[in-house]
Amino acid sequence: MKFGKIEENEKIIKFNLELKCINCNKKVPGGMKSGQNYFKTIEFNKELEKFKKTYLCGVCRDKKRIKDQD
Ligand SMILES: [Zn+2]
Repeated sequence: MKFGKIEENEKIIKFNLELKCINCNKKVPGGMKSGQNYFKTIEFNKELEKFKKTYLCGVCRDKKRIKDQD
């Protein structure tokens, strides 16, 4: 999964997150990648916190998508 900014020709950093679905609490291992210049910046950490707090697993995301269409 791409996270944040990756510029052209930039070195890509791969990292793993322990993600937990905010809806069903299912744990999902997240293989993430981000650009070297963005990785571990303040902005990066902020976005990461936000991302984790709003994370939905694939199943819940699909359910939400269907609900949003009603
Ligand atoms: Zn879920």
